[in-house]
Amino acid sequence: MNFLEKRILADGIVKPGNVLKVDSFLNHQMDIALIEEIAREFRRRFSEKPINKILTIEASGIGIASLVAREFGVPMVFAKKSKSINIDGEFYVAEVESFTHKTINRVIVSKKFLSADDRILIIDDFLANGCALQGLISIVEEAGATVEGIGIVIEKGFQEGGKVIREKGYPLESLAIVESMDAEKGAICFRQQQNMK
Ligand code: 5GP
Repeated sequence: MNFLEKRILADGIVKPGNVLKVDSFLNHQMDIALIEEIAREFRRRFSEKPINKILTIEASGIGIASLVAREFGVPMVFAKKSKSINIDGEFYVAEVESFTHKTINRVIVSKKFLSADDRILIIDDFLANGCALQGLISIVEEAGATVEGIGIVIEKGFQEGGKVIREKGYPLESLAIVESMDAEKGAICFRQQQNMK
């Protein structure tokens, strides 16, 4: 078991509705030493890629992506949730359905901060059905930029997002993949992965 899986077992709470709460170390209170270790692991996994920018989505991706960006020595951009109806041509736009809140958000990235020569590593905290990721991928592709990799902290492998993204050929690395979880027993099982210290 890797350092992240151990931490999820120790402090993660399984909620009804297939939700894993990790707000004591990742989503609300943040354990910076742990997130630094996560950032180093992403750096190791994507060390061969010519990444020049990190992209994430607000809000919970920002803290993690910041430390990943520092590890790579590149800027970080986050897609913002926008309520305004009149978005002029200055932004790339995607519609994203929130798994946790069941709402549809329009997310935007300014065209100033994403262009065709950018080589992007997308970072997010969770991968469930993949809506957040699909939105970020569509923004990168609309800009004509390249998705060099996708780094996810916790993938819920029993939901289809990871399968769909891998089938499309994107290099997706999830540091912990939850294979199953049980809210009544509080049990969490991980998919076996080879490539992590
Ligand atoms: P997706 O778009 O892949 O369905 O969901 C991804 C987003 O929903 C993540 O950015 C994350 O914020 C949130 N999310 C999905 N599942 C969970 C979960 O089990 N626990 C927590 N804390 N957030 C989740």
